[in-house]
Amino acid sequence: MSEIIFKIIFIVLFIIYILIRVPFDKKYKQQEKIRVVNSTKEKSLLFLMALGLLLMPLLWIFTPFLERFRIDFPLWVRLIGIAVSIGSLFYFQWIHKTLGDNWSPTLEIRKGHQLIKTGPYKTIRHPMYTQIWLWTIAQVFIISNWVAGFSGIIVWAILYFSRVSSEENMLKENFGDEYAEYMKQTGRVFPKLK
Ligand code: SAH
Repeated sequence: MSEIIFKIIFIVLFIIYILIRVPFDKKYKQQEKIRVVNSTKEKSLLFLMALGLLLMPLLWIFTPFLERFRIDFPLWVRLIGIAVSIGSLFYFQWIHKTLGDNWSPTLEIRKGHQLIKTGPYKTIRHPMYTQIWLWTIAQVFIISNWVAGFSGIIVWAILYFSRVSSEENMLKENFGDEYAEYMKQTGRVFPKLK
């Protein structure tokens, strides 16, 4: 399969990702926030995410600069990447719908914030982060390039590990025992083994 096909598939998947996000982003902008945590750090990390998940793939798609970093993954590996990515988009839509108005791109508590514990949140505390792990692993396989493939998972690992504990502390402070109890029943990005 020619490289151009993978480039087109990656762009289409990325556009679907953005289309799922847009309505939630619009609603988010209209909301009143009552608490914002680590704002500057969070925004810098989101900027880093844009570089790793979007800018590097765009360089791979539209310029020859990254050609020498190509990895020769067999076709089936790249097809698995596409399948994982498509599956993760269905999951993403389900998560966004369930989290509803409580979603925010950075760490925040909004006015009237509700703790969601149903649907994808029933067994996993951070399903959206599970989805991003799947998406960035798929990026490695689809793009098949040492730089543009791995850039996503590297920046995501930095954001994830510097965010997840702060997020849980913020939610514990806000929801108290209810969140502490919820933590006991769920796993961070995998369902808890019982
Ligand atoms: N970490 C979650 C949500 C990511 S969006 C996930 O991976 O699915 C980040 C925002 O979601 C945070 O600002 C936090 O206020 C909110 N949030 C996280 N878990 C939540 C939950 N169970 N119920 C409601 N809001 C939640």
